[in-house]
Amino acid sequence: MTANRFSKDFTQQEPIPEAGVKAALAVLASGKLHRYNVAPGEKGETALLEEEFASYMGKSYCLACASCGSAMYLALKSAGVKPGDKILCNAYTLAPVPGAIENTGAQIELVDIVNDYTIDLDDLAKKAAAPDVKWFLLSHMRGHIADMDRIMEICRTHDLVLIEDCAHTMGAAWDGRKSGSFGTAGCFSTQTYKHMNSGEGGLLVTDDPDLIARAIIHSGSYMLYERHTARPDMAVFESLKTMVPNYSSRMDNLRAGLLRPQLADLDRQCRRWNRRFDHLAQGLKKIPGIFVPERSEKEAYVGSSIQFSLNGRTEPEIRAFLDRCLEQGVELKWFGNKEPVGFTSAYESWKYFSDLPDLPNTKRILAVMCDMRIPLTFSLDDCDSILGIIEETAKEILT
Ligand SMILES: *Cc1c(COP(=O)(O)O)cnc(C)c1O
Repeated sequence: MTANRFSKDFTQQEPIPEAGVKAALAVLASGKLHRYNVAPGEKGETALLEEEFASYMGKSYCLACASCGSAMYLALKSAGVKPGDKILCNAYTLAPVPGAIENTGAQIELVDIVNDYTIDLDDLAKKAAAPDVKWFLLSHMRGHIADMDRIMEICRTHDLVLIEDCAHTMGAAWDGRKSGSFGTAGCFSTQTYKHMNSGEGGLLVTDDPDLIARAIIHSGSYMLYERHTARPDMAVFESLKTMVPNYSSRMDNLRAGLLRPQLADLDRQCRRWNRRFDHLAQGLKKIPGIFVPERSEKEAYVGSSIQFSLNGRTEPEIRAFLDRCLEQGVELKWFGNKEPVGFTSAYESWKYFSDLPDLPNTKRILAVMCDMRIPLTFSLDDCDSILGIIEETAKEILT
């Protein structure tokens, strides 16, 4: 038994910064929470957030949404996905991703993963070559960025339209280019456990004027789209305004007010995450029985969570390991659970799709993969305590 039980909460985020609280209180005091409740010519918090996020991403346009799930759905619909279309997607992702695909009436075409948890590029190239496949929703799950050079090459070769799910890569980059700026559209989450926290929320960025105009109208702009400021010329909306249905998935000024100061501080927060992540990764790599994959030098990740594999271990061994860690206050999640629990990621549990494929590599990799959140409320000393507990437990159970 380790002497000290770890007692901090793995889901405790930092408070909203003072400036965010102030902005939110000002919105509350004004009563003008709805994004279109602004005076003529006035930019509300939501419009300002969109401008600032588009600028941060180096993109022309941005739409703030109710969630990343709705941003992905709107992006797919606005890019032109039709019922019955096939959409490629990596099999290691979170339930809102297949959900967004299903919501469009399209079929999911799952792509296998490889040992470093990223998409299997050979399987992708093979499946992209099918004549009836045109769409690709790439989820940078848990912040693991695949070789974007090859991804873009495969997309070009097979004329694939790429939409990126960047719920875990806000602030991350590949070879100096921001994650979410590679695809036709990039979708981000501002849900509490992601890199900015407004409870719920999503952001969609693109350079495509037709796509963003459709997404803005779909999101529920009514005929008030002029009040958006990260949008294309009003003329783009003219032919669309009565042809695009309203799916009511807007963000409000209260959330945007919380987010703008967080965006201003995002890069610094990412560095703080990485200090913790790198410390944990270094420690975990030294523990016998634990495998932490190497990452490409081109990948500038944001380590808001860490994954590792207990390669070669059986289910009872892994359960014993997780239980012992939990007894000592270290809450690890496991992607190998047969029964969907918590925020599940086992693709077999998306049974609303027919004909889910058998993906032996994804199953083998998820069966031994553990996952740990790294909230910024943890110090480096906390990371050391966690490492100590995991090391002791590994010695006890994995040797
Ligand atoms: C959280 C998450 C989403 C969805 O974000 P919401 O804002 O909750 O809809 C999408 N993809 C991944 C990988 C996520 O973890």
